[in-house]
Amino acid sequence: MTTNTTKTTKSKRKFVFGLKSDRQLDGDKMNPDFMQKVVEEGGKGAAIAACMQCGTCSGGCTNIDRMDMSPRTLILMVQRGEWEKVLQSNTLWMCSSCYICTTRCPRGVRPSDVIEAVKAIAIRQGIENHSTRFNQIFVNLVEKRGILFEPELMQRYGGLKAMIDQAPLGIQLALKGKMSPLPDKIKDPKTFKQALEKAK
Ligand code: SF4
Ligand code: SF4
Repeated sequence: MTTNTTKTTKSKRKFVFGLKSDRQLDGDKMNPDFMQKVVEEGGKGAAIAACMQCGTCSGGCTNIDRMDMSPRTLILMVQRGEWEKVLQSNTLWMCSSCYICTTRCPRGVRPSDVIEAVKAIAIRQGIENHSTRFNQIFVNLVEKRGILFEPELMQRYGGLKAMIDQAPLGIQLALKGKMSPLPDKIKDPKTFKQALEKAK
């Protein structure tokens, strides 16, 4: 009986160890070119190869319920150079750049920077979806006024139906002074324009 229990414990341990070693990539299975591409795109300082798949990033992620791939898995896919999987993942667009993962990562991987960098590559490669369309409308409107006018964003993104659906919330926000019912103006359009040109 004792012998059986010992055997079971040993085999369980082996299995757990096996799973762990499978999740953590060996250096020779990594795709250094792909990782370098991500680092150059904006993931500067992101120690992608150092990820040990501990899952701390996923554990603290504020939007993981909406993602089809956890930040931990996304980093693993980036390590492997599984570009198509990374590109098709909605994680890129569900990430709210809250930086919790980056502040908690014990290895300095900076998952939020990695996601931003992959997103930039995806946009340049012509990926189009609801999120990229929303981002583009958002940027166009900020460029136009220097400040966002939310009802305009709603109308451009979701049309009349979205405006009607969101009207009760909009009225509540306006009554509480959280949203202006009319477009605001920025104080110094010239400086804003200069800043915009610099950013571009
Ligand atoms: S917290 Fe850091 S080391 Fe752990 S899985 Fe996430 S990226 Fe990898
Ligand atoms: S930055 Fe993105 S991936 Fe990281 S915790 Fe926030 S939502 Fe999750």
